[in-house]
Amino acid sequence: MASHTASSTIESANNEQILVIVSSRAVIDEQTTPATIVISPATGKILEVHKSIVPASSFPSGTPYTDHSPHILLPGLVDAHVHLNEPGRTEWEGFNTGTQAAAFGGVTTVIDMPLNAIPPTTTVANLKEKVAAAQGKCWVDVGFYGGLIPGNEAELKPLVKAGVRGFKGFLIDSGVPEFPAVSSEHIAKAFQELADEPTTAMFHAEMLPPIADSVGDDVQVSQAPLQPTGPLNHYRTFLDSRPSSFETYAILEILSQAHLAPKLPLHVVHLSAVEAIPLLREARAKGVPITAETCPHYLSLAAEAIKHGDTRHKCCPPIRDQANQDGLWSEMMRPDNSCIKTVVSDHSPCTPNLKLLPADIPGSVSTPSTQDPGNFFTAWGGISSVGLGISILWTDAKTRNFKIEDVVRWCCKNTAKQVGLDHQKGTLAVGFDADIAVFDDEAEFVVQPSTMLFRNKCSPYQGKVLRGVVKETWLRGRKIHTREAGFEKDGPVGKLLLEPRR
Ligand SMILES: [Zn+2]
Repeated sequence: MASHTASSTIESANNEQILVIVSSRAVIDEQTTPATIVISPATGKILEVHKSIVPASSFPSGTPYTDHSPHILLPGLVDAHVHLNEPGRTEWEGFNTGTQAAAFGGVTTVIDMPLNAIPPTTTVANLKEKVAAAQGKCWVDVGFYGGLIPGNEAELKPLVKAGVRGFKGFLIDSGVPEFPAVSSEHIAKAFQELADEPTTAMFHAEMLPPIADSVGDDVQVSQAPLQPTGPLNHYRTFLDSRPSSFETYAILEILSQAHLAPKLPLHVVHLSAVEAIPLLREARAKGVPITAETCPHYLSLAAEAIKHGDTRHKCCPPIRDQANQDGLWSEMMRPDNSCIKTVVSDHSPCTPNLKLLPADIPGSVSTPSTQDPGNFFTAWGGISSVGLGISILWTDAKTRNFKIEDVVRWCCKNTAKQVGLDHQKGTLAVGFDADIAVFDDEAEFVVQPSTMLFRNKCSPYQGKVLRGVVKETWLRGRKIHTREAGFEKDGPVGKLLLEPRR
């Protein structure tokens, strides 16, 4: 962190063109402070950071200089869990629309999940297909995860070298046939392969305990006693079919093999159940490098308020009750030793017809009665929210006495670290990419199709009033989106982040 004087600014300005952004409030070094950020448009890097407002007169005349006071300058968000679905299910989402939605909400980096595109990112050849599909379509920077499926162990090290940011595997049915779940034997092999690699092994941590009163997604074809225990369009029936024990059992399974790769960072994606927190705390206390992420929907929505048939709320693991939501927030009050380090969207869209929405739910398209509108078991599971995350979080975080610095820690700094980009992204500091979100923390807006830039306008947040508006988004020193004027006219300038982790 440099804290030069204004005179050194003028010196550096003599050598190269600069632009300057200032505000009375910016999140620097985990504190809110007045700041002046000097950027090189040529390299897209931050040249200088001053913890004060240096006046425009201190810079050479003609230097572009914008004072955003009192809005807050934040590092661009790193959303480390997004499903962009291209190629193969591009009608669900795509690099173009998904990254536009990200940019709208101050997200300057997204990491694409290895499943729901066809092919899945489970081999180097498949990664190349995905990279080819993404070229020229990304409005923000995009990295990729690799997939862990039965039998692809020999692809894992080559995928690390090809630049994937981590791996994800499922311990329960993933919902798509081309991405099968792994068993304990596959986890053991993967841990042995990845033990000394610079990567992270991540898991969808739901698993059927040996004696379960549900069979997960197979529930709809099951006979008693495994069949659902109530009407299929009642959220409670769905919630009861995926109890917290699915999550705790999966986490115990992962931990039981952690000794095979004691240095390998392990990560639980989209943690929902508070019952898992003591297990994670205990493992971390013993030195197991395991972390968890949670999502805005687990922190802002609650089972009690979900109406019959409103399948916009279906995701796995499920949104649980209000007490569970409160428990997740409590864990996040322990900034230094919380096991929940990050908050990510898990943006997982589909076409509206697959949500089987009844006619009275916003976003509904006509669902034939033969398809059973409002059936939580047959509807696609996944919630769309990329780009809305900071506003969803801020709306609730503020009422719970969190600060904007906490949001930056969860959504910028720690997500960048999780995916090995913390030398480049997630922090406003000298040498980092000039990725900046200009945030009006007081303004409010109503979520409606015009503020949901993802492809399919179907989200449980539609109609909700959110606090906090991203006014401008900057990617590597370029203003790529403003709320008033829309997207930069030159088209998408996002890069694919394929430099291997170190
Ligand atoms: Zn996901």
